[in-house]
Amino acid sequence: MKSGAVSEQATPELPKWLAEQWQRVQENASADRLGHAILLSGPKGVGKQILADEIRKIALCGERKAPSCGRCRSCEVAAAGNHSDDHSLSLPDDKKTISVDQVRHLITKLSLSAAYNNRKFGLVYPAESMTTAAANALLKTLEEPPGDTLLVLVSHNVSTLPATVLSRCQVIQCGAPQYAEGRAWLTQATGTTDGDVCLQLAGGAPFQAFNYYNQGVEKIYSSVIEDISRLRNDVIDLVHVASAWSGEHLDVRLRCLYTITKQLVLEALDLDGELAHKSDLKSLRMSDGQIKLSSLLGYQDSVVRARASLDGPLNQQLMLEKLLAPWSNGFSTQGLEYRNA
Ligand SMILES: [Zn+2]
Repeated sequence: MKSGAVSEQATPELPKWLAEQWQRVQENASADRLGHAILLSGPKGVGKQILADEIRKIALCGERKAPSCGRCRSCEVAAAGNHSDDHSLSLPDDKKTISVDQVRHLITKLSLSAAYNNRKFGLVYPAESMTTAAANALLKTLEEPPGDTLLVLVSHNVSTLPATVLSRCQVIQCGAPQYAEGRAWLTQATGTTDGDVCLQLAGGAPFQAFNYYNQGVEKIYSSVIEDISRLRNDVIDLVHVASAWSGEHLDVRLRCLYTITKQLVLEALDLDGELAHKSDLKSLRMSDGQIKLSSLLGYQDSVVRARASLDGPLNQQLMLEKLLAPWSNGFSTQGLEYRNA
């Protein structure tokens, strides 16, 4: 079953693994210690947006309750999604960055008087998408927001946020749950117990795993195993595979490659990974001898670097030919040179 209206965007219910963070927000709000800039930090797909939405409701509640009263006029308007003091700013679908103009527009709106007996609310999602100029434009507002304003920044990757932004926010860490808890949530959300591949690919982040599940990403995972298995058995051309991988789903394919390599590393260490039971990995268990652990670890680094390089200008075909070469040359010295490339 692939139905169910659970997604990080649509689900109002806060997941249990964020209960502690939610408790802290409520206590701070009740004690008037919420501050005026909160940064929700954590991997993509752990539910930060749901927590941000709960904070938005608190900020907009005319009774100033935490959690929001849900009954006052301001709460009703906020629930309808057209509150005039709600100024959310997110990355446009067709863009890679949040521009300085978007941030200036947000600042202008936040400088208007509140229409109800509540705070004004501003959201930046995801904060690391701001250009340097956009982040700089926001600094003064983070420090001295106009009137009674609460700003929430949501970031999947704070390491790329300017320190000047970080230092002006109250940071709330939102981590992924324990694997078993995430798996139990995913099982309930998808109605299937077969979510391990998606949860692994998502790095344990349940909402991201749920999206992967609905996108049928498991099929891509199987096709990646098949491709590298055929490369290893020398029945397919490296250039052909690199060409097929470039373009659509490249990021997911590299995630698959990372997860597969991780599984092989665990096996080399005589540890069972979460995917040990998956039979399609058998084709990679070496009939002609194990790949050395050191080679696998070096290769894992290569995959991480390849994924990181996707954000910059890149010749995908060349990158992939280099990355996939070890599977066709038996992880010989030639393949390992990638580590120091
Ligand atoms: Zn209210």
